Amino acid sequence: MKTILTGLRVNSELHLGHYLGVIKKLVALSNRYSKTGYEINLFIPDLHSIITPVDDDLQTNTLKNIKYFLASGLELNDHVHIYRQSRVPAHAELAWVLNCFATTGELSRMTQYKDKSAGKTSVGVGIFDYPVLMAADILLYDAEYVPVGEDQFQHLELTRTLAERFNHRYGETFTLPLAPKQQVEFMNLEAGVRIRDLVNPEKKMSKSTPAENSKIMLSDSPEQVKKKIMSATTDSFGEIDFDFKTRPGISNLLVIESLLKDEPLETTLSRWRGTTRYGDLKASVAGTLAAFLSNLQSKAAEIPDADVLAIFPEGEAYANNLANQKLTKVYEKLGLR
Ligand code: AMP
Repeated sequence: MKTILTGLRVNSELHLGHYLGVIKKLVALSNRYSKTGYEINLFIPDLHSIITPVDDDLQTNTLKNIKYFLASGLELNDHVHIYRQSRVPAHAELAWVLNCFATTGELSRMTQYKDKSAGKTSVGVGIFDYPVLMAADILLYDAEYVPVGEDQFQHLELTRTLAERFNHRYGETFTLPLAPKQQVEFMNLEAGVRIRDLVNPEKKMSKSTPAENSKIMLSDSPEQVKKKIMSATTDSFGEIDFDFKTRPGISNLLVIESLLKDEPLETTLSRWRGTTRYGDLKASVAGTLAAFLSNLQSKAAEIPDADVLAIFPEGEAYANNLANQKLTKVYEKLGLR
């Protein structure tokens, strides 16, 4: 059984970067591989959500975000398993076991931890330890394929290290996920997109940027979209061209237009390159985006909560079954059973 595993975070409201960078790609991946002999584990990492204080209602966000996936064309079939991490207790249990195989030195070297703890004398243990929980998320299902962004490569390597360490000591127990480079090759992730901040296009669009005009939320109205896109930072070259290094603002708008229209960037570019029609390009992007979001929002709104809640029983039964088998095997090897 070949398993592709990926988590869908529900901490915050989703923006356009999440849609184009994650949702669109995961939906295509799931629809393709669930029909070609793979099991797709799409889980809600709600235990990861609580490593920092949660402002939003996780239950509401879970439903809302799954609706966006369904509205984006995620096809449900017997090989797609959607489950909430906190409903599969083996995740937390295996994380404890793996904690006993990880070292503080290893976890201290994680760049995410270093970034989040920089300048602080003390941080939450969850922030320090979540890579171990992530290892448990993956190893419980022998998932070889874990489509993650570059920011998670180090954690994937840690997962491999912990699995190897356990296997070495107790015999073959865990399947190692593929190394990051192979993950990228397998899933063609190098075609990764980074949608930029509309006000400061040197940076990626991010939920943590306070300026409202800097990001397009999936819940934005056509008026909001228009206002934000029309005021987006471009450049003073006076002629439209594509180059993320020298003209990130206009390049970002061209990428958004091409991805939403599902056309090659070259095709989009050929309509605008060399012209001075910055305003027209913005109006075009605003129109494409507003139409896209209205469609997505109305599709999501048509999905009743009950339909989303009805998805979990299968996914959670499937996950608990596999995860408990693996956990029992681990406990047996450790002499706990
Ligand atoms: P975050 O909400 O920042 O934790 O990101 C969750 C996921 O969305 C990660 O896999 C990010 O790589 C992806 N993501 C976040 N912002 C963007 C963006 N502006 N463009 C593309 N992908 C993004």
